[in-house]
Amino acid sequence: MSALNVEEIVKKVISELNNANSLKECEYGIFESMNDAIEASFIAQRKYLKHSLSDRDKYIKAIKNEFYKEENLKKICKMTVEETGMGNYSHKLLKNRLVLEKTPGVEDLKTDAYTGDKGLTLVELSPYGVIGSITPTTNPTETILCNTIGMLAAGNSIVFSPHPRAKEVSLFTIKLINKALKEAKAPDNLVVTVKNPTIENANIMMNHEKVKLLVATGGPGVVKSVLSTGKKAIGAGAGNPPAVVDETADIEKAAKDIVDGCSFDNNLPCIAEKEVIAVDEITDYLIFNMKKNGAYEIKDKETLNNLQNLVLSKDLKLNTECVGKSARYLLDKIGIQVEDDIKVIIMETDKNHPFVIEELMMPILPIVRVKDVDEAIELSIEVEHGNRHTAIMHSKNIDKLSKMAKLIQTTIFVKNGPSYSGIGVGGEGYTTFTIAGPTGEGLTSAKTFARKRRCVLVDGFDIR
Ligand code: NAD
Repeated sequence: MSALNVEEIVKKVISELNNANSLKECEYGIFESMNDAIEASFIAQRKYLKHSLSDRDKYIKAIKNEFYKEENLKKICKMTVEETGMGNYSHKLLKNRLVLEKTPGVEDLKTDAYTGDKGLTLVELSPYGVIGSITPTTNPTETILCNTIGMLAAGNSIVFSPHPRAKEVSLFTIKLINKALKEAKAPDNLVVTVKNPTIENANIMMNHEKVKLLVATGGPGVVKSVLSTGKKAIGAGAGNPPAVVDETADIEKAAKDIVDGCSFDNNLPCIAEKEVIAVDEITDYLIFNMKKNGAYEIKDKETLNNLQNLVLSKDLKLNTECVGKSARYLLDKIGIQVEDDIKVIIMETDKNHPFVIEELMMPILPIVRVKDVDEAIELSIEVEHGNRHTAIMHSKNIDKLSKMAKLIQTTIFVKNGPSYSGIGVGGEGYTTFTIAGPTGEGLTSAKTFARKRRCVLVDGFDIR
């Protein structure tokens, strides 16, 4: 046997071993290398093209059924809290259930039709192909599930790049999705990721020619990254939602709604109330009612400084250890012990306080007192920072509600309810955990992940 032959045989054996390994991993959609994951996803999408809309529907139902199983739902929520150290277990159950119940599927793909003397033209919503989806640490499983449902409904395959700090639970969720897909006899590798999600792997994905659409759910950094690739990209970025309360509002209800919205999953959702702007006339009564509904008020400067030093560095960098922690935990860290019924920490501040300006993602809620509703609206626009994300207003004055809705330009504007009614909890409409403010798609769903294609039949099918 010549030296060359031996070399070839060794190469062949290594390649077979690699194939065997990747096949094993394929069963669960988890790959060693990002390039292999993308190639597999590309092949999967090609096969998926031949499957019907009812097949897609069947696969999505199979995924939902897998996660409706109590043991799976509980496990992903428990794993998320343990791994990320953020959020509230029972609220995570609620959020994940919400995704299963209210994320649109294939029914979201509506066709436009034109008919006339020259025939029939259809505008159909078709897949992009392989979608690269970058997911956050704040709602890791919700985002993966929600994006999977919408993206598969639109006929795509998906390569996920999960947050490294939510790696275990993200990979587990993707494995369960693959298990469900396999049992429903869907093509292998419609939903894939890598064993080691890193920024480096995310960059490989963002720049790979076979990835045709990028979807980034996260802070401003990642949104900027996907928008810099030159590819079609959907950016679901940061928020800093203000809640305005004027003198015409139902103050008792507004107080409860704000505390409930702000404390939802320990303030992790990007839509959650992050600061209150209240008209002077009702501010004291609002605070009184917030305290009746689980708010702890900090009144002295020293305690406020202690809290600021705990959660923000001198140069206003977030202490990630505090993100998504409970009010009780944060207070305990500064030497204040409270009961479990304390859900948020409130304080009056001026409008330039870092708690107003920064997106904290923890149940700390500064309250800024202003002279009237017009000043409140103006300030709310300023502190929302042009994120175009979410704003809330409590008022019975239709003119002022309309004024704020029009001027603040947020993707979600909730009137007289907690912020989460904007994603379908106690409010009408479907849900999503990818809210695309910067790029304008709004609350994403299957149709967001589809391309418009025109299909023209000449001289026929006009039956009017
Ligand atoms: P993050 O920006 O730290 O991370 C999000 C994802 O982007 C992660 O997977 C991370 O690994 C990746 N990433 C970060 N920088 C990157 C870069 N330069 N290149 C490639 N990948 C990069 O966000 P987070 O802390 O996980 O989530 C919280 C932030 O996300 C908040 O600002 C919140 O408002 C926002 N958010 C927005 C939405 C929305 O729908 N608009 C939903 C959830 C979270």
